[in-house]
Amino acid sequence: MTYASPYPELPENAGGFLSWLGIGRQPRPAEMPAVPSATVAEDASQRARRHLLEQISAFLLENGLEVTAQNLVTAHGIFSGLNPGLRRQVQAKRESGCPITQAWLDRASANDALDGEQIVKQLVSQLEQGIASFSRSTSNARSATRTYGDALAQHVGQLEASPPDAGMIITELAQYARAMLERSRKAEAELRQSEQEAASLRRNLDRARRDAEVDFLTGLPNRRAFESALERHRSEAAEMGEPLCVAFCDIDHFKQVNDTHGHEAGDRILCVVAKTLSQISGEKCHIARHGGEEFVMLFRGASTEEAFELLDNARAELAARKLVNRRTELPFGQVTFSGGIADVFAYPDARLALAAADEALYRAKEAGRNRIVLARKDS
Ligand code: GH3
Ligand code: MG
Ligand code: MG
Repeated sequence: MTYASPYPELPENAGGFLSWLGIGRQPRPAEMPAVPSATVAEDASQRARRHLLEQISAFLLENGLEVTAQNLVTAHGIFSGLNPGLRRQVQAKRESGCPITQAWLDRASANDALDGEQIVKQLVSQLEQGIASFSRSTSNARSATRTYGDALAQHVGQLEASPPDAGMIITELAQYARAMLERSRKAEAELRQSEQEAASLRRNLDRARRDAEVDFLTGLPNRRAFESALERHRSEAAEMGEPLCVAFCDIDHFKQVNDTHGHEAGDRILCVVAKTLSQISGEKCHIARHGGEEFVMLFRGASTEEAFELLDNARAELAARKLVNRRTELPFGQVTFSGGIADVFAYPDARLALAAADEALYRAKEAGRNRIVLARKDS
């Protein structure tokens, strides 16, 4: 008597998060030889990764860019397609025949406002797709296992009903049981691999979220981080009855620094100003790069007068320094900034308080720069 096997095929690849996501495919463990179609897919994926690495290294070498973590991240965004905005900017720059310098690349990626946000969004959507696909596959695997169970039960029934066939049935049962065991070991290994891949993806996601809130040039929080901190501090301070002020600062005649000393020197000046302002930041004072040569600050528990004193001290300290361009030995001359301060609770919302601080900054510029001005109470 022969039996048509009632056992279905379990999915060969029940795990492998990143293979669904199309990134970071892991080699299959030795005890799980890949079927030919998977081998072809792996080769294609390896080729794609090699090509991506070649594009990244050619880009850095051809443009004389340093191999820094930031440049690698930026180049990865350009060539992996994760940052289409920056990719377009690079293409346009190449077509214009102008060289891609470090300063240009830093500015282009800083100006690409969607940069970090886009990466996070894409990672989140990849993760969501991966999880959905993973659940589908797991439920397929489960229903297949269930069918195995049913078939095994059927054999046990037959075993009881027809003793003359018992020897044959037992032999087949043992074969099926062995096959099932093998499959479930394999499924377990794939599941473990998927868990590891998902954990690593989650870590990347957390890192991307953090990076999306940091200005890579100065290392300060960026505008997005500042805006959420402002909302949070506004409601906390309101609840606790504490004063809260915001300040807008802008480097004076910064364009001249770039024009005279070049953008890279300009970047170093931006870092000097960021460092000067950071010296007054702490638990109660937060600073962020708002964009370009503008910084924003949040003073928790400080009146506008107290905030003024803190910021004006930082201004005076910077103005007193004699900065020299260490690459050329040429003096930068006096580097100063102007600032405007507003009381957050004097305005209906945080956005209007920031606008008032900006207006006060404008008046500081008008009045001759290198000074801090308080916002008018009625503005
Ligand atoms: P003001 O005193 O009125 O503020 O004059 P300013 O020259 O500082 O202002 P303006 O808005 O004319 O010029 C700002 C310059 O800042 C122009 C822009 O190229 C430069 N800039 C913006 N972001 C960066 C950056 O990340 N790096 C460098 N090096 N320059 C930047
Ligand atoms: Mg400005
Ligand atoms: Mg300026």
